[in-house]
Amino acid sequence: MLDLVLRNARIAGRGDAILDIGIAGEKIVEIAQAISSDAPLEDAGGRLVMPGFVETHIHLDKSCILDRCESRDGTLQEAIAQVAAAKRGFTEDDVYARGRRTLEKAIVQGTTRMRTHVEVDPRIGLTSFAAVRRLKRDYAWAIDLEICVFPQEGLLNDPGTEELLVAACEAGADLIGGCPYTDSDPHGQIARIFAIARRFDLDIDFHLDFDLDASRMDLEEVCRQTLAFRYGGRVAVGHVTKLSALPPTQLAAMARRLADAGVAVTVLPATDLFLMGRAHDHNVPRGVTPAHRLAEHGVTCSLATNNVLNPFTPFGDCSLVRIANLYANIAQAGTPRELAACFDLVTAQPARLMNLPDYGIAVGNPADLVVLDASEPAMAIAEVAQPLIGFKRGRRSFSRAAPLLFPPTTGP
Ligand SMILES: [Zn+2]
Repeated sequence: MLDLVLRNARIAGRGDAILDIGIAGEKIVEIAQAISSDAPLEDAGGRLVMPGFVETHIHLDKSCILDRCESRDGTLQEAIAQVAAAKRGFTEDDVYARGRRTLEKAIVQGTTRMRTHVEVDPRIGLTSFAAVRRLKRDYAWAIDLEICVFPQEGLLNDPGTEELLVAACEAGADLIGGCPYTDSDPHGQIARIFAIARRFDLDIDFHLDFDLDASRMDLEEVCRQTLAFRYGGRVAVGHVTKLSALPPTQLAAMARRLADAGVAVTVLPATDLFLMGRAHDHNVPRGVTPAHRLAEHGVTCSLATNNVLNPFTPFGDCSLVRIANLYANIAQAGTPRELAACFDLVTAQPARLMNLPDYGIAVGNPADLVVLDASEPAMAIAEVAQPLIGFKRGRRSFSRAAPLLFPPTTGP
């Protein structure tokens, strides 16, 4: 017995076949041509149906604070300082309200799985963490939210932070992150984060190597500890803009190192473009690491949103198809194969990064289904295709009306 049939779907990876998807309860139970059923129907009209976008890196807690900040030089250091000052005014309800606005935007952009980073330190305590936990619970009907607690302003130089991170892990944080480049002892921080992760058996997601000086990288230390603790497949690093400054042979060598260690990479094109290269007043470097090239070497990679409407990134509609299009444009990835790879970087690859075994349109998986106004993945990226309908675990979670034209009637 089916509860719903999504008719006339084009499914990524299944060629040009037009298929029906049968849903019972929260799951996909049948994928076939012309399913016969009395269940309610939804018609995808031959459009691309996919399991929703996967956001691996966003900051709900510090989104939507542009009106509280004043940015002048647009550097990373200024953004951290501005947000640190604004953070002193955060309350739980304030974080909840701003996070909700950002989360709802992501949902209507077709995102069904998300990892959010949440700052923990002695100034904010566990206030933002508590607010984001409420969001996770209150929006579980539309999105699976994973919480990564991390110290934005340092760990070894910021007494009391480690105790708070441990308290958050005891209270149910899903994973732990780090930010070695703001620490007085970057390698010391990496070691402490690995120690906490192993104590609580959590995956790790670092902010890492966020400038354009490739002569010194913390990435090597992260790979070394990942191998030493047999943590391959459980460690991700975000930004790593230093890799964008490497010539191809060195980039390929580092890609092989990452693939061998099992360290995944998240590239954050909007923030990286906005903050990098500020020392240049012309011929400004893009500062965006070529994720699709790393992926060609077997590195698990994702493209993600990072910041929304704050000094790190004063933009943001939470659309991952837009981020993938932005990335494709600046990475000069324009062939059908490259554009399809960019689609993978906001769908299947980030699902692998987050270790989500039940992601994908397959019998037995949750009925997370998003209809995109596109015929196939490469064109979805090329055209910034809009999501029209979404289902989360078999229940409709949003819809967006397709645009309509109203030409004048002709003749008498
Ligand atoms: Zn971030």
